[in-house]
Formats: sequence, C-alpha cells, structure tokens
Amino acid sequence: MILFDFDYERADTLEQAVALLARLQGDARALAGGTDLLPGMRMENIRPGLLVSLSGIEPEAPQVLADGSIRIDALTRLATLENSELVRRVVPMLAQSAHVVGGNQIRQMGTLGGNLCQEVRCLHLDQKHDYQFVAPCYKRGGTCCYPFPRNAPEVCWSVYMSDIAPALIALNAQVEILGETGTRRIDVEALFTGNGLKPLALSQAELLRAVLIPAAAPGFTWGFHKSTVRGGLEFGMAVLAVALQLAEDGRTCTDARIVVGAVREGPVRPVAAERSLIGKTLDEERMEQAAADTSRVVNPLPHHGFSKRHLMDNIRVHLRRTLARALQRARDQEAGR
Ligand SMILES: Cc1cc2nc3c(=O)[nH]c(=O)nc-3n(C[C@H](O)[C@H](O)[C@H](O)COP(=O)(O)OP(=O)(O)OC[C@H]3O[C@@H](n4cnc5c(N)ncnc54)[C@H](O)[C@@H]3O)c2cc1C
Ligand code: SF4
Repeated sequence: MILFDFDYERADTLEQAVALLARLQGDARALAGGTDLLPGMRMENIRPGLLVSLSGIEPEAPQVLADGSIRIDALTRLATLENSELVRRVVPMLAQSAHVVGGNQIRQMGTLGGNLCQEVRCLHLDQKHDYQFVAPCYKRGGTCCYPFPRNAPEVCWSVYMSDIAPALIALNAQVEILGETGTRRIDVEALFTGNGLKPLALSQAELLRAVLIPAAAPGFTWGFHKSTVRGGLEFGMAVLAVALQLAEDGRTCTDARIVVGAVREGPVRPVAAERSLIGKTLDEERMEQAAADTSRVVNPLPHHGFSKRHLMDNIRVHLRRTLARALQRARDQEAGR
C-alpha cells in the first residue's frame, strides 16, 4: 500500500503545532508516534494534506505535584511510561495498561496522547477499500454500514480500543488540552463522545498536553485485565479497569470505579454496578452480581469476530476475577507482601 502525497512540518512547540493545525482547518493532522495514524492513512481512512510532527518536542518527565497528583506529558512514549520507576510506584495501573499495548516496537514509538486519541476500529473500515468494497461506509463518508446494515447514517458501531483510557478513567484522571484560545482541563471520561463517527470531544486544532492523575488515598486498590486471544501484540477483546476505595476493615467498599474498554465506541462506566458495591462488604456473591450487571449494561458490540454473547461472558467472568484480585492486592499490601 503506497502512501499518497502530503506535506510535512515539524513543530518545535505544542503551541506552534496548534497554530499549524488551526491554519489548515481540518486538512492537517498531528503526528506523534505515527503507529495509529500512518496505518490509517495507508488504508486511506484519512487523507490529511499536512502532517504536523510532534516528534521534535521533548516531553517533560512524569512528576508528582505539590498536592500528590501525578502529571504526565501527553508526548511521553509508552515504553517510558511502563518502565518509569515513578509511574510504577505511584500509579502502577497506568504502567500496566501501557505495558499491554501492542508489542515493544509499538510502545517505543507510540505516545500517551496518541494512544488516547487513536481512531476507532472496525474490520470493514481497516482495509484498503479500492477492491474489497463496492462503496465506502458511513465512517468514510459513504452510504452504508457493512456489519450493521440496519444502522442509520448517523450511527457507526466501530470500537474504541485504547488499553490506557479505561485505566485513566478508573483513576479519575483529567487531560489538559491546548487549543487556539488557551488551555482547558476535562475528565478523561469526557474526552469520549460515544459516537463512532466522531469519537473524541476535541476540535481539529486541539492537542492533549498532559494527563493529571489524583493522589491515591489510603485504602485504594486496583485491578486491570486485558483479554486477548494470543496474549501479545494484539488489540483487546475486552479491557477492564477497576479502582476501589476500601474502609479500614479492608473489605467494605467506600467508592468504586469500573471501566470497560474495547467493546463500544468509547470506554463505558457501569455506574449502577459501581453503586451496588458502595457501602457493602465485597464478598464473592456481590462481586459476581456486579460483574453480571456490568456485562448486561455495557451491551458489548460484536467486533473482530467476537460475538456479543462471548464478550458478555468474558466481561462477567473476568470482571469478577479482577475485583477479587483488587481485594487480594489490598490484603497483600496490608500484610506487607
Ligand atoms: C500492530 C499494532 C498493534 C497495536 N496494539 C495496540 C494495543 O494493543 N492497544 C492500544 O491501545 N493501541 C494499540 N495500537 C494503536 C497505537 O499504536 C497505540 O495506541 C499508540 O499509543 C498510538 O500512539 P501514537 O503516538 O503512535 O499515535 P499517532 O499514530 O501519532 O496518532 C494517533 C492519533 O492521535 C492524534 N494525536 C497524537 N498525539 C496527540 C496529542 N498529543 N493530542 C491530540 N491528538 C493527538 C493523531 O493526530 C492521530 O489522529 C496498535 C497499533 C498497531 C499498528
Ligand atoms: S461500523 Fe462504522 S466503520 Fe464499521 S462499517 Fe459500519 S459505519 Fe463503517
């Protein structure tokens, strides 16, 4: 697959990159590691006239701020994230979610910002269209949807597959966004529209500058699980991230955040299942019930050959185990193991 012609500029600062993106009015794209964007361009899902490379901008090292929160530059490579001693100690769930992305080569090139802003995926979208398909689908500006032919033109059920976004949402993280008029900050959760046609709540001339993760309070514990068929260099079949706050007895849940990724147009939080855990003792039965409720509420889309039934079973079984592992992690910490 030969790439079409496009212009290329290397920005020295994020502000310069934003100015270039704004000037081209949607015909320009930011290029970070390029591991998601360039395959998309090869398949001609997108045809930008200009690529604005961010590779000349040196990311700041992850740092702990005065209030105990941690700030991570959006240009940080995933390999840096997974190997950072600071990230592993302060936000181990983030290090683990970075570690399971693709293979080592992807993590050496791919960045945190690029991971969060990656395109949604669909088997029918991610193929060169010139000979396999008679017409472009809705996502490509066409008039049909191949896997879901009864969908209306404004509905695209492609799947958002970042491994890191569910972990950051569970951690209640925020993103700092730089635009033409300055900086704004939103919850990572608010970055996702839930619309496969335009999955991110960003304008064409906005870039992620940093991710901010609040300090963990005493009693915090977490669990993370990515299901894949082969266990390496593979997008997730389903991704689960759990953050629990436990009372002093180590069993009563005082707060819960559950996030399911890779099964819908954006990460999903089953709020009712989270609430069903709060104020309760986390025994087997309660965790089993929360996991079963989650698999129903999330209502996974069949994707990449996995049926809806299979994904529901996967979420139910692995969420129960992920919750149990989070509880066990808290016990191990308490026992100094
Ligand atoms: C073989 C293969 C396997 C993969 N496996 C996984 C996987 O298991 N899990 C997973 O999560 N991903 C996976 N990916 C997807 C992707 O490689 C990673 O998510 C990677 O982190 C993307 O980062 P990047 O810097 O390369 O993004 P790029 O390709 O440079 O950019 C991706 C998108 O984000 C935009 N962008 C980049 N930086 C910013 C910014 N700072 N602010 C706003 N927008 C920005 C770009 O304009 C582009 O639209 C895989 C990709 C490949 C090719
Ligand atoms: S789900 Fe979306 S990307 Fe996939 S074929 Fe339908 S419109 Fe296209």
